[in-house]
Amino acid sequence: SHKEAFQLYYQPQFSVAGGELVGAEALLRWENQGQFISPAEFIPVAEETSLINDIGLWVLQRACTQFVYWQSHGIRLPAISVNVSARQFHHRDFLPQLEQIMQESGIPAACLMLELTESVVLENLKETIQKMQAIRQLGIHLSIDDFGTGYSSLAYLKELPVNEVKLDRSFIMRLVEEHKDRVLVATVLALAEAMEFSVIAEGVETEELANLLRIFHCDEIQGYWLARPMSAEQMEVFLRERASGLSG
Ligand code: C2E
Ligand code: CA
Ligand code: CA
Repeated sequence: SHKEAFQLYYQPQFSVAGGELVGAEALLRWENQGQFISPAEFIPVAEETSLINDIGLWVLQRACTQFVYWQSHGIRLPAISVNVSARQFHHRDFLPQLEQIMQESGIPAACLMLELTESVVLENLKETIQKMQAIRQLGIHLSIDDFGTGYSSLAYLKELPVNEVKLDRSFIMRLVEEHKDRVLVATVLALAEAMEFSVIAEGVETEELANLLRIFHCDEIQGYWLARPMSAEQMEVFLRERASGLSG
């Protein structure tokens, strides 16, 4: 089946203040005839068909099972984040399927974070908020992904039951130069403090940017500067080394 060509990679996430590992994001990899095809290419295509539902469920299942495997082998990872596409989220079976995967894998709900893009929210705000609340009631955490691209709106952010806002890489990259973007980050962080959600910056490639984010009191960071996405095997080595204090 097509699923055998799929693999999950994992990219660590760190706290800005103390540098400790706080979680990892699961990222899909597709190998076709020896070539790696970027998810940025095949996810949008899959999203146009119901194939995204199968792929999305496989990703959730795989990520939860891997997490529980690590946990039961004493390999400590605080949490796992999984990307959920708009079509998958809005599918009428999404909630029962999510509950089934939780039960079958045995993942503690508080260790699972779902990343939803803004396009998810824009589709039908009222229905979306209800579904998000139902997911939160299961104990699962929610993140708004790609914040700062296109349609970002602070106005609806305050309506959403989210645990985290993830600042998009394209937006983060401009921080060093663009005053307007710095003001927006400061505003999101102020809102985050008032509403008790955390803010994570993705795509952090330089120390300069990491330092700037520290000055801003951004909560968490993810990016090549600290760690690249890696296979499950590489991630296991990374986690074991960190636990024994050999690195980081
Ligand atoms: P995303 O959710 O915004 O994920 C972050 C992307 O940035 C990942 O690309 C990651 O490898 C890359 N990245 C991380 N740190 C850095 C950095 O410091 N510099 C640069 N230049 N890039 C960095 P990737 O893995 O190619 O994924 C691309 C997009 O494909 C993701 O963007 C996400 O929208 C989608 N995607 C990936 N896996 C899944 C999945 O399982 N389900 C769904 N629905 N979408 C997925
Ligand atoms: Ca993401
Ligand atoms: Ca992004």
